[in-house]
This record gives sequence, C-alpha cells and structure tokens, in this order.
Amino acid sequence: MSDLSRLRQAVDLAHECPPSVTFRVGCVITGADGTVLATGYSGETDPHDHAEEVALAKLAGDPRLAGATVYSSLEPCSSRSSRPASCTRLILDAGIPRIVFAWREPPLFVDCVGAETLAAAGREVVELPELAPLVREANAHLELPPEP
Ligand SMILES: [Zn+2]
Repeated sequence: MSDLSRLRQAVDLAHECPPSVTFRVGCVITGADGTVLATGYSGETDPHDHAEEVALAKLAGDPRLAGATVYSSLEPCSSRSSRPASCTRLILDAGIPRIVFAWREPPLFVDCVGAETLAAAGREVVELPELAPLVREANAHLELPPEP
C-alpha cells in the first residue's frame, strides 16, 4: 500500500475521535513489510491522549518498531501541556525511523517543531500536504488561522 493510501487511513481514523478532543488526529503504525501494527486516535482512551501516543502505547517494547513507519494526520507535537513527553519524543524513544504526516500543526497553541526535530535526529520525515485539506476539515471546530 502506498504512503498516500496508508496516510489516508490515518486521516479517516480521526473521525473516531470523541467530540471533546482539541485536535482530531488519527495515526497508523506499520511494520517494515507494510502490515499495520497498531492504530490510534485522539482521545481514544483518555481525553488527553494524542493519536500517536495511543498507537505507540499498544506497541511498547515491540522490536518491529525499529523498522516501523508512523502515519499521522497531524505533524507530531513537540511540546504539550498535559503530559511530560511529546509525541515527537515518544517516536524518537521508540526508535521509529520513518514518519509520514499530512498537516503541519498551525501555530495555535504552541509553535510545533516536530517535523524539524525528527529530521534533525536523522529520521526520515515525509510530508504529504495533498491530504492536509481533509485534516483541516476534521478540525474545522478550531479557530484556525487562514491558510498561508
Ligand atoms: Zn502529540
């Protein structure tokens, strides 16, 4: 399955989010052979859950993470108020080599440098902005700044 189709799955997962969550995000993690290892969405088990965090928690200590790809509809966060570790930190700590995302986090709450941080750490970061309008649409409840 192509990166675009797999990322589309992550984007669609955001529709599972409970209405209480801020950012509606979906995440799919695949192994080196492309099979789905885990999925997650914002607020899946707790209102503060981020999608990537939920998916990663299902794979704690899994050796397949070393060859995995994280598909997230939103750029992984680089700082957050509700938990000590950002999703960027969790992805780095899990040793995941490849990250594919659609939408750059708008500078709404915090200035996100997730993509830059992951790339600086030597991870392969792929941005597929063609899916970003769908992610924006799923987050239309936020006070979004105008598109650049
Ligand atoms: Zn996050």
